[in-house]
Amino acid sequence: MRSYSDYLHPAKARNLLLQGARVLDPRQNLDRTADLHIKDGIVQVAPARIPDDADIIDLRGHIITPGWFDLHVHLREPGREVAETIESGCHAAMNGGITGVACMPNTDPPIDDAGRVRWVLEKAESLPVDVHVVAAATRGRSGQELVEMSELVELGVRAFSDDGAPIANSAVLRHALEYANMLHARIFQHAEDPQLSAGGAMNEGEWSTRLGLPGIPPVSETIDVMRCIQLARYTGAAVHICHVSTHDSVEWIRWAKQQGLRVTAEVCPHHLLLTEEHCKGFDTDYKMSPPLRSEEDRLACLRGIGDGTLDVLCTDHAPHTWESKAQEFDVAPFGVVGLETVLGLTLTHLVPQILDWNTLLQRVAYSPREILSQAVPAIASGQPANLTVIDPEQKWTVEPAEFLSKSRNTPFKNWPLTGRARGIVNRGFAIIKYT
Ligand SMILES: [Zn+2]
Repeated sequence: MRSYSDYLHPAKARNLLLQGARVLDPRQNLDRTADLHIKDGIVQVAPARIPDDADIIDLRGHIITPGWFDLHVHLREPGREVAETIESGCHAAMNGGITGVACMPNTDPPIDDAGRVRWVLEKAESLPVDVHVVAAATRGRSGQELVEMSELVELGVRAFSDDGAPIANSAVLRHALEYANMLHARIFQHAEDPQLSAGGAMNEGEWSTRLGLPGIPPVSETIDVMRCIQLARYTGAAVHICHVSTHDSVEWIRWAKQQGLRVTAEVCPHHLLLTEEHCKGFDTDYKMSPPLRSEEDRLACLRGIGDGTLDVLCTDHAPHTWESKAQEFDVAPFGVVGLETVLGLTLTHLVPQILDWNTLLQRVAYSPREILSQAVPAIASGQPANLTVIDPEQKWTVEPAEFLSKSRNTPFKNWPLTGRARGIVNRGFAIIKYT
């Protein structure tokens, strides 16, 4: 396993010159080759002279963007530290070129009170990645009684979710939306009808029939997306739909946006690049929730991320140990890792066909933070340096054994990719890989 020591020592971030990269920040109307001087975590764009005591990193041929943010990750701590910890998850993020993550509360115990939110934030404090806690919406994620939202908002929480499961009771969901709205926070809904999905292992359709696996019908997701949209319309509250996977979900979200409703949504690389057919080898690294769908669904998701119906590209990074994934397909847990492959997959398969660079940065850097009411980092003199450094030409192959994540459950193993994260600068750290 590769360790931190493969990276430039963090202390060097104190005085560092990133030289010769294409610097891209559409919000700052910035797209040009420029040196960035970073001193004590603050950036200076195109300094008049090269500071003679600075450590210089030659980044010709590279691209520097505002730091990427992953709006949906599972860090597994507390409770399943064998699959991931806050620290290992942040190291995976850093290795993938991601400077901020929103972590989901379906841990054991769930993150549903102030003490647990504080505990996560304290664990993350010294790491190079910003960790934003998405707190549980209901106590124990039981779907019944709302958590003390106002107390958690005071700690900086801006999103609540029972992710892993939906808030199935419509009255509870309504109150969660209304209460979160009052506090300028947002509900993130894992959209699913638990009864329709019950017992399912993969998308319901021709392939589930052929493989003899129990199905999860696409309508299980779409029906809940419609319910969220109707409740958002009725209450005037904002709602965020997690990991959209079906054609009809995309269409309903498009409709909701046309109505001016406060509905945002996200999609993951696996739903953009894979279909249910990949389950045919019974490899559990293709098992996640929601499941891989049909080609029609995949194409609809691609259209959605292209035209902005889907606001955010995130990973739903869901680490599982080899042992748990080594079970039979219908009993293995749902979920795949994603932090260390999203950037390479995106540059190889989505840019520029589906997303140009400006739109891409909207989906991976600006919108995720806006949905959490967080400041969007700017590459501008005097601003804190929050950067992703990319080698757009690097050819590499996904080798799960090289992940910094504790888990290896990727559906993209052995994929050849072009474009890789070279490092990040954030929170006073500069972690740039040697070539
Ligand atoms: Zn989910």
